[in-house]
Amino acid sequence: MRTVAVTRIGSLRDPDESARGQVGVVDFPDQPLGDEDVRIRVAYAAICGSDPHLAEGFFGTDVPIGLGHEISGVIEALGEKAHRTGLQVGDRVAGNFLRFCGTCLPCREGKQQFCEHIQDYNRPGMAETITWHESQVYKLPDTVSLLEGCLLEPTSVAVRIVDKTNIKVGDRVAICGGGPIGQLALQVIKMHGATSLTLIEPIAERREMALRHGAEHVIDPVGEDQYTRADEITDGRGYDIVIDASGSPRAVRGLLDIAAKGATVIYGAMYPAEFEMPLNLSDYLYLKELTLTGVFVSPYAFPRALQVLPHLELAELTQSVFDLADATEAFAMHMSGRFAKVVIRCNDIADSAASTSAVAGGAE
Ligand SMILES: [Zn+2]
Ligand SMILES: [Zn+2]
Repeated sequence: MRTVAVTRIGSLRDPDESARGQVGVVDFPDQPLGDEDVRIRVAYAAICGSDPHLAEGFFGTDVPIGLGHEISGVIEALGEKAHRTGLQVGDRVAGNFLRFCGTCLPCREGKQQFCEHIQDYNRPGMAETITWHESQVYKLPDTVSLLEGCLLEPTSVAVRIVDKTNIKVGDRVAICGGGPIGQLALQVIKMHGATSLTLIEPIAERREMALRHGAEHVIDPVGEDQYTRADEITDGRGYDIVIDASGSPRAVRGLLDIAAKGATVIYGAMYPAEFEMPLNLSDYLYLKELTLTGVFVSPYAFPRALQVLPHLELAELTQSVFDLADATEAFAMHMSGRFAKVVIRCNDIADSAASTSAVAGGAE
């Protein structure tokens, strides 16, 4: 089965071509269909900001490493006992790439993200098919196209980030990073009554995109002084909630200085394993009483992500689509930063969705 995989470990940005990480299409064995499993013919798999970290060997260096956890598709087979959620062959679906076992202690304590068996079903979905446990699979609403459906997983991350802000209506909010998670978090937190909603992002196209989807202000951290601008926007008080969706060591440290007293700061990205951020405990935790937190994965967020998905404007996140055979070019496009999201079409599947372009934006 053709699968997109990391075929050589290394930074995808390495200027030295002989050391640069490589992504290509390899042949993987078919995944077994267990009694409680669902086999999905994958329609679309989106490239995630975390995929280049996998190419650098963050989770292991034995190549090939199969990629793809943001997928949509159509069910083509069900295991004999996969009937607890009412899924049927032909259903249009998306889902959670992680299966939470439900039995280990963290699962029973309501902390599924720390499930001790989290890797058991973590299979590459940037492939012709993927086989998941029934509990990982969600049927897409009729108004969400397969192309939009591959954004269910990143939307679940945005939902989880917003959950961790504990936002109250009227809170001033800044988001650092205008990639897909930043853009989705912006739309989701707007629904919660965020004010002074600001996106901090060096790429002009991404700032403009945020302004089209609910941002009230944008800051260019390279061309402008972000502290002065944040002061102007918040009348010198700072933001009640600051979200990092950039994952950039350069960007994150200054976020503590635009946070208001008593603010919550969420590091909602994946960071280089060796990066350490200096933290003055007296200034930030004693005098300012900041709450600092992060997000690993998104347990309990998928059903609600499915509820908000039809209400999000997703057209601008689904503009760049490559065929599976062109995965290498797709990753080059992702690294160029020209599009907030790059999607791989794993199979050409006719889509029955009546995507309402006025609400959800572009269907296929
Ligand atoms: Zn992702
Ligand atoms: Zn578990």
